[in-house]
Order: sequence, then structure tokens, then C-alpha cells
Amino acid sequence: MSRVFHRVLDRELPVAVRTEGAWVEDASGRRYLDGAGGAIVVNVGHGDPELIRAAAEHLRHLDYVHGTMFTTEAVEAYAEEVAPLLPVPDARIYPVSGGSEAVETALKLARAYHLARGEDRDVVLARRNSYHGNTLGALDASGREPLRAPYRPWLGRARHVSAAYEYRCPNPAHPEGCAAFYARELERAIEEAGPGRVAAFIAEPISGATLAAAVPCEDYWVRIAEVCRRHGVLLVADEVMTGFGRTGAWFAADRFGLRPDLLTAGKGATSGYVPFGFCAASGEVFEAVRAAGGFVHGFTWSHHGLGAAVGRAVLRRLREGRLVERSRELGERVRKELAAALADHPRVGDVRGSGLMIGIELVRDRATKEPFRREERAAERVLAAGREVGLLLYPSTGHVEGRGDLLLLGPPFVLSDEEAGLLVERTAAALDAVR
Ligand code: PLP
Repeated sequence: MSRVFHRVLDRELPVAVRTEGAWVEDASGRRYLDGAGGAIVVNVGHGDPELIRAAAEHLRHLDYVHGTMFTTEAVEAYAEEVAPLLPVPDARIYPVSGGSEAVETALKLARAYHLARGEDRDVVLARRNSYHGNTLGALDASGREPLRAPYRPWLGRARHVSAAYEYRCPNPAHPEGCAAFYARELERAIEEAGPGRVAAFIAEPISGATLAAAVPCEDYWVRIAEVCRRHGVLLVADEVMTGFGRTGAWFAADRFGLRPDLLTAGKGATSGYVPFGFCAASGEVFEAVRAAGGFVHGFTWSHHGLGAAVGRAVLRRLREGRLVERSRELGERVRKELAAALADHPRVGDVRGSGLMIGIELVRDRATKEPFRREERAAERVLAAGREVGLLLYPSTGHVEGRGDLLLLGPPFVLSDEEAGLLVERTAAALDAVR
């Protein structure tokens, strides 16, 4: 019996003992190709000596100081280095310990900004089939019904519009005028909330955990940003999954020329070596809040230097190893090879994505796009088959009114060409479980 309250309670978990490059090894000596970088976290690869050295060196001279009493060199230098890489104008960095905290920070900061300007805006708009985290504010913004269901009595302040989802686009004229269709829906939601009520619209520039790398049409973000600006609604780009090269650009917003007011990051910011994330605010948001007396917020672990020190090493590795470019080029290759390998698979409805964030949508019937019944546990079967052939994938279920099966691939960018071939081969083999 284990004393640990595990994340998974319906099966025994193997004990991970070693990680290196794109591989995870368990206590029985079994090696798994990390096709999902954990949960699309390990961007620069496992066991990177520079990241380990950065963490050790930081801790050797500084462990903990409180964010209200001190700043640190690590945090100052990280903010200085990361700010110019962000799509946020004149960015200021608020470091936290993960994605959910980054989202909570962004939502509170949006309200603080409006209050500072004398506007009592309280409504958060988000999208259905989105994921922004598991703390209550972030979960309320999330439109992932299976995760929300048990906690519904505590949720319900945030309002939701459709996510941009090309494979099952709700626009009757699809593919014509989709961006305008979504922009109209957003504008209606803002108007329904009432004048001066909506504080922020939060969305993933490319949908991750809930829609498996669903890329919006090219002009989606231009139209959405225009609606937000016109109504004084702050735009929050949740780049917790898409940031730091995952989609083949430094940030997914870059792909669409999107300049958000706030941006949230986590996961790949430290490649998973230590818990870390941040909320970046535009200079305008920061100055307004500062002028009004500051931001009533904070955590014991916010502004901790360890994440910042590792985050700097990640930036160096991404830059010097040309790993963002590697994500773009290798991602394109893997996506093409997967699409070819699965072209006649009767249960694969769609292979999509950007860079090394690749999604596979499983369907019962390719012609009608009818999903599997949930009891058939299609995604879970593929996942188990993947483990059997030594491959780790990241699943998502329930996006089509409770049904629907998705798989997300997001390997480390240091994946070699041979390992990329193995990833395609093993993914195809795992998918035989639902053929
Ligand atoms: N936002 C997005 C887009 C995510 O994908 C996630 C996690 O998957 C989160 C927020 C929450 O991050 P965390 O699990 O670090 O709290």
C-alpha cells in the first residue's frame, strides 16, 4: 500500500527513476519515448546539464526570500530577458509557481486594471472546450465540462463562447467567414453582459488540452482582438501550453500577429524542471495598477528565484540550440508522416497542430465525424497500447457533449530524427487498439 494520494486511482503507476533526452525509464528498466513531454511540458528535453546547473547554482547562494521584502538578481535578469520575447507590449513579469496561478493572477489583474481606471468590470469571458487550470477561478474560466461538473455549485461567474475549432466548426458557412462568425458571437456576449461589465476575454491562441492542437483560421485573432479593443475588454492569451517554442514560434500569438494585454505562461517556461509560471502584463496595465496603489495579490512562492534561474537557462538553450526552429521543422515533418501513416485508419478523423504540438482526433465514423461512445474508452485504450509499445501520449476526452476522444503529442524538441520516426511508428502501432 502506498501512502500517496495519487493522481490516478484506478491502476498502479510505474515508478519513474530516470529521464534523459526524450526518454523516461521506470524502476523495472522499461523505457518510454516521451511523446507528450509529460503533459506538453518538457520542451528542451530531459536531463539537460545546463538547466540542472542553473538550479544548483541558484540554490547554492540563495534559497528563499519573500517577494514583499526583496527582489533577486535571478528574477530581475529573467524578466529583462523574457520581456522582449513576449508578444505583450512593454511587458512586466509577475512570477508564480504554475499555470493555474498565472491564470488567477491574470484574471485578478484584469479587474484591478479596470478598478484603477474607475470601471467596476467583473465578468470574465472565456471559451467552451478550453482549459485554464484547476483552481476555482481558472476552472471557472475553463470550458471543460467533465472537470467542472463536480464543482458546478462553486462555479458560474465566467461566461463562455465557442472555441475556434476547424474540424467541427459551428459556422454554417464554414470555411467562409469563420473569423467574423466567432467575432460576432463574442461581441454578442459582451453586449449581453451589459455595458462596461466585461473585464477580460481569456483564450488559448491554439487550443491545447481540451481540443488537441486546434489551430484557428488565420484571421480569427485579428477579428477577436478588434472586438475586445472596441469594448475595452482586456485580452488574455493563455500560453501556458503553447509558449516557449511549442507551436514552432516563440509564442503562439506571434503566428497570428496577436498583441495581448496579458499573457500567462507555465509548463515549458522551465521545461518542467521546477514549478514555475508567470503572468505578463502590458506596460499600460502595469502603470494603471501602480498609479492606483498597487496589486492586491501574491503567494508565498511568487517571485521565487529558482524558477527564474532555470527559466533563463531554458531561454539560452532554446536560442543556442535553435530549438524553436527545430520544433517548427520537426513538427511539420512528424505531422505529415503521421497523416500519411494514418491516412486509411478508419478511426482517425483528423491530424492537426502547429510545431511540436500535434493533435489526433478519434472518431467512430470518419464520414459523419460521429465520436465513440464514452464507455468505449477509445483514448484510454490507445494510451494503454502506447504504454505497451513504450510510448507516452496525452489524452483528452469529452469535448463533443461528453463524448469525443483526442490524443496530444508534444515531445521534447531535442527529439532526434530517428526518434521522430519511432514516434510516428509507435503512435500508429498504439492506434491499432481502436482500428
Ligand atoms: N492553461 C493552459 C492552457 C493549460 O494547458 C494548463 C495546464 O494544462 C493550465 C493553464 C494550468 O496549468 P497548471 O497545471 O500548471 O496549473
